[in-house]
Amino acid sequence: MSELPYSYDVPVSQELFDRAAAVTPGGVNSPVRAFRAVGGTPRFMVSGKGPYLTDADGREYVDLVCSWGPMILGHSHPEVIAAVQEAVARGTSFGTPGEGEVALAEEIVARVEPVEQVRLVSSGTEATMSAIRLARGFTRRTKVIKFAGCYHGHVDSLLAAAGSGVATFALPDTPGVTGAQAGDTIVLPYNDLEAVQEAFHRHPGEIACVITEASPGNMGVVPPLPGFNQGLKDACRANGALYISDEVMTGFRTSRAGWYGIDGVRPDLMTFGKVMGGGFPAAAFGGRADVMAHLAPAGPVYQAGTLSGNPVATAAGLAQLRLLDDAAYDKVNAVSEQIQTLVSGALTKEGVAHTLQSASNMFSVFFTDRPVRTYEDAKAQESFRFTAFFHSLLANGVYLPPSSFESWFVSTAHDDRAIQRIADALPAAARAAAEATAA
Ligand code: PLP
Repeated sequence: MSELPYSYDVPVSQELFDRAAAVTPGGVNSPVRAFRAVGGTPRFMVSGKGPYLTDADGREYVDLVCSWGPMILGHSHPEVIAAVQEAVARGTSFGTPGEGEVALAEEIVARVEPVEQVRLVSSGTEATMSAIRLARGFTRRTKVIKFAGCYHGHVDSLLAAAGSGVATFALPDTPGVTGAQAGDTIVLPYNDLEAVQEAFHRHPGEIACVITEASPGNMGVVPPLPGFNQGLKDACRANGALYISDEVMTGFRTSRAGWYGIDGVRPDLMTFGKVMGGGFPAAAFGGRADVMAHLAPAGPVYQAGTLSGNPVATAAGLAQLRLLDDAAYDKVNAVSEQIQTLVSGALTKEGVAHTLQSASNMFSVFFTDRPVRTYEDAKAQESFRFTAFFHSLLANGVYLPPSSFESWFVSTAHDDRAIQRIADALPAAARAAAEATAA
């Protein structure tokens, strides 16, 4: 059993966690799920419906994680489920081209104007890894600029100062990544254009690309300062490098066309995942046709995948994207604003210093009274208050991301009843945050 008191009332999850730990490292298949940052027993979920998740002990939670972003229509949306059932009935994988992947690619190209061509893959990590390889192949250069606190999946060369999961585990880098793999990565402070100029100055003709989260959500939500993304784009253009906007998290979530639909800065390459898969493993990278033309089999840069463009995943993604019209985004944005107001109100009432930051409907709470512009700012918050806040909400049926370095996610399915349940749970959670003390 965990030494923290929070696990006492979820015996089935605890038993599953014990079983899992015997056969899987740390008992989970993705580190943040293990609750290490907040302690206690991870909830093993058995079903999801609309804004709710139900765990193996039969407890129901209002879900503010939404599978870390994908479930923007809520769980088990009937039209997405119907599309999946229809696809499954025709077979689950063919290893050949199919119409579903053409339709999904057409939908992405129609929505996101800078994407002239797109390649489907199965995870966001694959998307960013492949985009970097393509940028290096296209420019015939080696170095990559990334920003501290931005996470681009567990790509070897991109794990340095990678926010969220890595931050939660306090691993500055990770064993297993060689000096050669990390040596071509230049990590700069986020929101610092001078540092970018300086790096280009120090490495003339060597930098293949700058990759950035379009609006970061992996150190908590830290939007780009006005002009930052445009500055990156300009610096790339001036120095013959490609500007890669990672929209795995923001894509099709922050607007119809993701963060591009909000800031209008035109990347050379973009990466997508999460929402575009409708809860299935589907992701993509795409952009300028002349750059994408370097990808095999059209060009020399190799990239492939047994399950890329899988017919079930593409059916789910396409169904979800087709339901995401302007009214859907208005609804998610309105839900997000309502919850933000409730959270901030409850914390203010208890005198808890906090800063709520948002990027369209993505938001997170930092337990500090200072604006958070960089990863260093994010790390300076009083995370111990988050732990108390998190567990109080969990005990009262509200499921937050189990780390203070994560965005919260909402859906079109968060209705008045779900929001009322959050409102009811917040006063005790805010009190718990106020009373919390550093360990
Ligand atoms: N890029 C960003 C911005 C992400 O947030 C993530 C995952 O959270 C990834 C890439 C990696 O995606 P995946 O977990 O599907 O490999």
